[in-house]
Amino acid sequence: MRFTQKDLIVAYREEGLSYREIAEKTSTSEQFCRTVCSRVNQKLKANSSSTDMCRYCGKQLLHTNGAKKKQFCSGNCRTAYHNQEKMRKSYIRTCEYCKKEFVSFGYPQKRFCCRECRTEAERRCREVRR
Ligand SMILES: [Zn+2]
Ligand SMILES: [Zn+2]
Repeated sequence: MRFTQKDLIVAYREEGLSYREIAEKTSTSEQFCRTVCSRVNQKLKANSSSTDMCRYCGKQLLHTNGAKKKQFCSGNCRTAYHNQEKMRKSYIRTCEYCKKEFVSFGYPQKRFCCRECRTEAERRCREVRR
């Protein structure tokens, strides 16, 4: 059985070698090894996501032959899953009132770090207008 260079790179990686070590052994570049490995990882991920389980609640899914593979058992689970993903995303924002940096989960447009800042900012805004 013959190995291609890519197979070799992946195999070395599975042995726990660093990209630099692999690059030396296969006389390629570090960047090349990284690309090869990440592509393989992506493929693995794609395969494992085609399991027959709801991605949200883990319930077994029934597939109709020929139909597009479902990922969720119901619309509710799909919505809940996407909401969860959105909430997990964090954004670094600067408070418009106290100029402190804060992390906002799920809301990229959040303007103030806390309710006090928001109230104060609104109060000032009203005073300026007067
Ligand atoms: Zn479900
Ligand atoms: Zn603030």
